[in-house]
Amino acid sequence: MKLTGKKAACVGSGVIGAGWAARLLWNGIDVHVFDPNEEAQRQLDEVIANADHALAKLTLAPRPVKGKLTFTNDLAEAVRDAVFIQESVPERMELKKSVLTDIEAHAPADALICSSSSGLLPSDLQSDMRHPERFMIGHPFNPVYLLPLVEICGGGQTGKTEIQRAEEAYKFLGMRPLVVRKEIDGFIADRLMEALWREALWLVKDGVATVEEIDEAVRLGAGLRWAQMGTFMTYRIAGGEGGMRHFMEQFGPSLKWPWTKLMDVPDLDDDLLDKIASQSDDQVQSTGAGLDFRGLERRRDDCLVSTLQALKVHDIGAGVELSRFEAALYARAHPAENDSAIDTPDLAQPLKLYETVVQPDWVDYNNHMTESRYLQVFGDASDGFTRMIGIDSDYLEATGSYFTVETHIMHLAEVAGLEPIYTTTQLLAVDEKRLHVFHRIHHGRDDSVLASAEQMLLHVGRQSRKASAADPVILDRLRNVMDAQKELPRPDHAGRGIGIKAR
Ligand code: NAD
Repeated sequence: MKLTGKKAACVGSGVIGAGWAARLLWNGIDVHVFDPNEEAQRQLDEVIANADHALAKLTLAPRPVKGKLTFTNDLAEAVRDAVFIQESVPERMELKKSVLTDIEAHAPADALICSSSSGLLPSDLQSDMRHPERFMIGHPFNPVYLLPLVEICGGGQTGKTEIQRAEEAYKFLGMRPLVVRKEIDGFIADRLMEALWREALWLVKDGVATVEEIDEAVRLGAGLRWAQMGTFMTYRIAGGEGGMRHFMEQFGPSLKWPWTKLMDVPDLDDDLLDKIASQSDDQVQSTGAGLDFRGLERRRDDCLVSTLQALKVHDIGAGVELSRFEAALYARAHPAENDSAIDTPDLAQPLKLYETVVQPDWVDYNNHMTESRYLQVFGDASDGFTRMIGIDSDYLEATGSYFTVETHIMHLAEVAGLEPIYTTTQLLAVDEKRLHVFHRIHHGRDDSVLASAEQMLLHVGRQSRKASAADPVILDRLRNVMDAQKELPRPDHAGRGIGIKAR
């Protein structure tokens, strides 16, 4: 399901619902949020502010113009025109079932309805629904706006097509949907996490370790490996040259030793709750650097952003998902000319191929867009232009691409953070190997020109890494643009040099 231009609804906006809202908004989707709690809107705003802070650092890929958030006290209003609805109310079967019935009563007939439930069976949740085929679990991980995993689990009455639609929707949001093959309580990830959690509770209860010591045991050892390798790959490498078979032979027998208490649950009596809560308070005192709750969230997010970026460099784990998401963001910002969802631009005018808002991290101390970001935006404009003439991923792989070899930027007016901007591109000259382009950055509200950039781009062969002639099909398209734009006046600033004339 393509979410572009559609509306979504979040029902319940606590920790998870607010995270969903932030992810949807960042992807340019308008979101209606319903939550009856009086504090909900304030908490939602705080989570979105934290998400903006983290997402601004996550990627340099062009970000969609942020979606519009509407908070409402009326469930019917929230879901009325939504094609994608994510339910995130507390984990109680009867509450969820009654909320799902209410959602269904007011939502469009073809809307997908997904529940964030951490472990309730979808067959139970959908049992009273009139159209259960469009219901499934979409189980995310906190913080939803940064972590890419979402487990999809359908119930007995969920439709296959609907699961595919949900997969597409979650992929659009930059997530990696993992479809659970068999309906099972707790799905995949929470079963694994609960095993660790039970054992951790026993270790605290039995006085073997404190809350802080257990966290150290996870984060200084196994935790560092899990993000990149998961469990099986970690153990394969632990088997040395003998690999997994050797590992299993060596450590397999110990599985039968009584190391764990997995099937028992410690009694969560007042003593244990007090012990855990007070040790957790001590832990925050000693490791929290005086941060309040939102501060702790921001520190967690900053570390996650750095981890995701490091994993991307090594093309592994969640880093692969980040690369995919960035490629999709570039494609969305510069749709190929045959993408029917986008109007073909009028070639006789300077081409409007890229629009965005000045992101919060693009501004300097006086809240104006900082110099290096102008070059980034002009780079995105060139990228949009080369995509429009057909330099897509197949061409990049097989033939080559255009490299920028010279740029002259003129700064004409300031622009502040969060202001809308767009670029236009005029083709000044073209030959077999070169493109001479003139871009302008305009203000999104009054069209005034904020900056211009004149650039020379050189076609470089993929194998040879040397200047080479572009494919004849590309050259034809470029000549079309040149022909169409021949009546446009040459920009005043084109060909201008830098210097101070001697008197
Ligand atoms: P939460 O308590 O933070 O938020 C629940 C929100 O639902 C609250 O803001 C509450 O006011 C609202 N609510 C209560 N009744 C409602 C109703 N009738 N209609 C609309 N909103 C209502 O809980 P959470 O941690 O965000 O959990 C929500 C869901 O997400 C649960 O199903 C949970 O299992 C799942 N989940 C939680 C996590 C996590 O780490 N917290 C992770 C994955 C999934």
